[in-house]
Amino acid sequence: MRKIVLATQNKGKIAEFERLLAEFAKDIEVLGLRDFPEMPEIDETGTTFAQNALLKAQGVCEYTNLPALADDSGLCIDYLNGAPGIFSARWAGTHGDDGANIVKVLTQLEGVKEQNRGANFVCEVALVFPSSHHWAEISEIESGKLAGFITFSPRGTAGFGYDPIFQPTGQELTLGEFGHGEKDRISHRGIALRAIAPKIKDLL
Ligand code: IMP
Repeated sequence: MRKIVLATQNKGKIAEFERLLAEFAKDIEVLGLRDFPEMPEIDETGTTFAQNALLKAQGVCEYTNLPALADDSGLCIDYLNGAPGIFSARWAGTHGDDGANIVKVLTQLEGVKEQNRGANFVCEVALVFPSSHHWAEISEIESGKLAGFITFSPRGTAGFGYDPIFQPTGQELTLGEFGHGEKDRISHRGIALRAIAPKIKDLL
């Protein structure tokens, strides 16, 4: 089996990526950061999603000496000039406080009409190879985007993050009201991973 490390602790992300990769190749084992519990935390000091994805992939690749894939994603709201962007996870101050992040965004958009509430979910994925690998000089980046708008109040309990206040263009439901599989098909992460999966199959 060929191996790749996904730079995440999140079992759901690993399972989603395994399913996706299996469509392209059956001989790739996907490891996660739980398989390397001693690995030090990587600081996301970049100023773009792509830089942060690359930093994470490089850090994991260096530590594990295996090809590594990392993603960085977030919500970019037009009315807020692209914020919260790379600060999405800690927009209200505490990392991962989804409820507080949603309240902050809704407060910032108070009184803003539906036509001015446009937003995009963005995901960048980076693939990096160890120095011993014949593709060591190459790093691949792919991106995915999902367009929509910020609703006036949260709806639905599925998903995570800003899902309950994000309604994709042309849909009646927020991502919080979507089923899991349905979201994977259209999501920014799904689009980016589907773009990079064939390259993984060829380059690994
Ligand atoms: P990460 O790149 O997966 O760590 O995501 C960073 C932050 O962006 C998350 O903590 C969420 O607040 C937000 N985010 C990214 N992707 C999604 C999504 O699919 N739904 C809702 N929020 C998301």
